[in-house]
Amino acid sequence: MKFLFWFLVVWLVWRWWRSVRRLGARRAAARDAQASGGVAPDWMVPCAHCGLHVPQAEMLMDDAGLAYCSEAHRRLGVRHG
Ligand SMILES: [Zn+2]
Repeated sequence: MKFLFWFLVVWLVWRWWRSVRRLGARRAAARDAQASGGVAPDWMVPCAHCGLHVPQAEMLMDDAGLAYCSEAHRRLGVRHG
């Protein structure tokens, strides 16, 4: 009977450890989804020249760190007025 008791204890500990691990994995996954939400691949940025919104992956950046929709607008720079 003593063996059966220890078997039960080990089984319960194993079950508890498994549920803790699963909870931690779920929390980490939620945190990753939240972190990547701000910098999604299709994040839109406005062109500094014409104001057109372009995906971050397709935008062009100048030395000042401003985003442009095309090479032509990047050469023209920020539109004043
Ligand atoms: Zn533009």
